Amino acid sequence: MGMTMRWIGRRSGALFAAMIMSAGLVMQLPAAAQPSPFGLDEAQLVTRSLASFETEHLRVHHSSGAEDAARAYAEVLDDAAGWLADEVGWRATLVVAVLDGDDWRALARLPFPVPHARPGETMVVIPTSIAAYPGFDIWKLDARELTTALAVHELGHVAAYDLDINRESLWVGELVANLFMAGYVRERRPDLDALLGGVPQGFDGAGAVRSLAALDEQYAGVGLENYAWFQFRLAELADAMVRARPFAEIVSGLQREFRFGQSAEEMTATLARLERIVPGSTAGIVDMTGE
Ligand SMILES: [Zn+2]
Repeated sequence: MGMTMRWIGRRSGALFAAMIMSAGLVMQLPAAAQPSPFGLDEAQLVTRSLASFETEHLRVHHSSGAEDAARAYAEVLDDAAGWLADEVGWRATLVVAVLDGDDWRALARLPFPVPHARPGETMVVIPTSIAAYPGFDIWKLDARELTTALAVHELGHVAAYDLDINRESLWVGELVANLFMAGYVRERRPDLDALLGGVPQGFDGAGAVRSLAALDEQYAGVGLENYAWFQFRLAELADAMVRARPFAEIVSGLQREFRFGQSAEEMTATLARLERIVPGSTAGIVDMTGE
């Protein structure tokens, strides 16, 4: 399963908020029938006759009945895209799919409601609400606020890909997406800090697997709740980093230290790269850096 996950992550160039996909599901997909094992490109959204609208930086397609949610997510994503253009020169038209459970199950290859990105398609796939995610009831977070923050995280995957930042390590990829999310939230929307408070009270037990190396190997194979635990920890680390150094400098640091095409390396070397970007940053994750 680990090898399958890695193969998909690397060969498709796709990075995901979470990859809950089982190896069995991957095997069932007819290789020639889809441009990607994950399917879902903009043409499919158009074919399904979803409602759509455009903003300055986005083309949004959404389920019927989801217009309020779609407009709320789009308002923030559009602002985030404009902010990234100013901060780091990233410019693109982002395709946004906001899908309810029925449309999701008909179109997406990952389970509802796992947000994900299609970097090569400059596309993010967002559920109408994250509330059905396992563990959500324990977190005591606002569903709209958390879904919005996760949407910005997915935009981060797309922008990082275009900026030639890391396509090798899955856990570094998640940290990078969280850096984009945290950078935007702290600078522009401090009210959207749902992901920045660390592991929610009562949820720490979900971190049965705590090793970042294991996350790289198994990705969401660690389980949905354990995967969310990693995201809370990496978002907390990202928040500490963006508060210590201007976002644009962090991005240029990422481009220098985690340039696309870099070969795999030991954990200690990866941590040293993070330390060069923000000294002291890895002190908070010592419990995650062993085997
Ligand atoms: Zn992600």
